[in-house]
Amino acid sequence: MLRRGALVLVASSWLAGCAAVPAPAGGSRVVVLGIDGLEANALRRYAHSLPNLTRLLDEGVYAEMTVTTPIMSPILWTTMASGYPVEAHGIGGWTNGQGRSFTGADVRVARVWDALSAEGRRSLVSGWLMTWPASIVRGSLLSDRFVWAQPMSREGEAEQTEEALEGTAYPDSLATRARAWVPDEAWLAASPLAYQVEAYGAPSHPLRRDELHVRVFEALWPEADADFGALYVNGADQVSHLYWPFCDPDSQKQIRADTGAHKRQVEAFLLAHPGRAAPPWGVEGLTAVDLAEASRWVPDYYAYLDDVVGRVRRVVGADATLIVVSDHGFQSSTTWPLIEGQHRGTAVFAAVGPRVIPGEGARMHVFDVAPTVYALLGLPAAEDMPGEVRTDMFEVVELPRVATRTLGRGDIAVGSGAGAGDQALKGQLQALGYLDEDGRPKTAIGQSRSEGGATPP
Ligand SMILES: [Zn+2]
Repeated sequence: MLRRGALVLVASSWLAGCAAVPAPAGGSRVVVLGIDGLEANALRRYAHSLPNLTRLLDEGVYAEMTVTTPIMSPILWTTMASGYPVEAHGIGGWTNGQGRSFTGADVRVARVWDALSAEGRRSLVSGWLMTWPASIVRGSLLSDRFVWAQPMSREGEAEQTEEALEGTAYPDSLATRARAWVPDEAWLAASPLAYQVEAYGAPSHPLRRDELHVRVFEALWPEADADFGALYVNGADQVSHLYWPFCDPDSQKQIRADTGAHKRQVEAFLLAHPGRAAPPWGVEGLTAVDLAEASRWVPDYYAYLDDVVGRVRRVVGADATLIVVSDHGFQSSTTWPLIEGQHRGTAVFAAVGPRVIPGEGARMHVFDVAPTVYALLGLPAAEDMPGEVRTDMFEVVELPRVATRTLGRGDIAVGSGAGAGDQALKGQLQALGYLDEDGRPKTAIGQSRSEGGATPP
């Protein structure tokens, strides 16, 4: 029997039948759209082809956001959902250094949906990192492992058992419903990103996974009666790791100035990383025609994400606060500037809604996200959260803080780290260079520690 990462004490207070507490009046519903790796410079560069993001920035509040190091997605998304640094929340990265994946069962703090559940208020969570095994929430939660537990071929589909989906969603019936929303081959082939899906070899291109998370949110939010929504998409990060240099003006300039430069760097890269696959256009050498084609990948994925922002904004409506946030930005790798992208320590934070104070906000810190979301929801942050409620960006009143939202030992279920989708996810992480062949995290990519000259600006 799979143990859910249930917050036993927290959850039992409402399971025992405490009455649902109505949300405070006045636009207190909050939706967070998390876009992994969304880069501020790219938003400016491609503004002309990103109408929804541009409108959101024009109408709402916008700030660049400092994030903590190491710059790793599981750490940062858990910080944004909880208000706690890595030392407190317990998610140290993708794996723990002995090849075991971190999972939601390792999270030692309440996340916003846990705190709301304890108040009898509903949430809708779709695809957020570190949510498997799906914990018991008031509302619905599709874990990040659901998509990885999907069969990778038509033959696999016939063989798929209900067991593979166990723990991937709460309630369990959501997993069955969500299977019907997985984009099929025909939809992928008709997408403007079909050329990427085809080049990648379906289904490991992120479009199918991101689109599923969005469809789950679109389908469920109108019926969810939820005060809080959390939707996570990862494709900008994945595509930027491999294709960023081709859209970066400085890297482009180097490639154009010296037609052999890319091929030489590829050869050195493969010598240094014998286990890694050749980068795109790596073997043949990149021509000017190839560069024109390669430079489309990132902006075309941004155009898809822009469409997602429009769809989410429509379904969320004007009376809720919509926050669009990333966990880090992107830049060309400091070590392999023509080969791969690398995380940058400045993320994007933007919001629209009735309680937003429009304009350019002062710099945000990743620690400020959760306390501010709590305030928007009419809930207190905790004294041991390092961040601030951003009353300069939102019309909110900060409530007196509770002592802590960390969990006691008895509230934490220890996960096995294996199970649904683990191999599929690890394969993807290896391909991106996040893990070595033994499943240990690599330090050069996917984070930017200060040693080794990989410090982001
Ligand atoms: Zn990330």
